[in-house]
Amino acid sequence: MLVLVIEDEVDLATTVEYNLRAEGFEVRLAHTGKQGLAATAQDPLPDLIVLDLMLPDLSGTEICRRLRDQERTRNVPVIMCTAKGEEIDRVVGFEVGADDYVVKPFSVRELMLRIRALLRRADASRRDDTEPSLMRFGRLRLDRDGHRAWVDESELSLTALEFRLLHAFMSRKGRVQSRDALLSDVWGIEADITTRTVDTHVKRLREKLGEAGQYIETLRGVGYRFKDQPDEADA
Ligand code: CA
Repeated sequence: MLVLVIEDEVDLATTVEYNLRAEGFEVRLAHTGKQGLAATAQDPLPDLIVLDLMLPDLSGTEICRRLRDQERTRNVPVIMCTAKGEEIDRVVGFEVGADDYVVKPFSVRELMLRIRALLRRADASRRDDTEPSLMRFGRLRLDRDGHRAWVDESELSLTALEFRLLHAFMSRKGRVQSRDALLSDVWGIEADITTRTVDTHVKRLREKLGEAGQYIETLRGVGYRFKDQPDEADA
């Protein structure tokens, strides 16, 4: 597994590199945004990118946007490192596709846990593509091809949009989903609606899900996250 670390604070970058190597990862370091982008063009493609928000040349959000614009790097998970006090919603750039974030100063242990979790999820979502169309999570079942969903044995009556929303949540379990990302995934980016509409539809979807609605968590100021794992009682 190769991790690309784009971070201009050399001490921090070196510490992260040391710890990643200690856990068996290969590491590529870049200290500027341009170096970072150049490093994504080299083979092999990194399996994950740790990206600092504040870099001397390009911002982390700009880099993330470029990564998402390119076919080659579109699906590489990105963890953004932000400084305390920066507005996560505006700055972290989930709207440009970062998958998770850590707030500086972060513990290396926390970063490692997040890296592992993100790689696990990326692996699981790759597998999802080849899996049969039935998805399960706790008391919830969803038939992707049949466009049907159930909580326990009772079938839900979902609109096409609510179904797409639920599917988007279930296919990205445990990952932060900003309103903007949901807008572009579920509604299509050109849709003339506001992020408030997302909240309205999520609320309605939650109500229809009943007790299973608690699988969708609200992250204040950021967006939503479908739980990583169902509660034990539901599993
Ligand atoms: Ca920095």
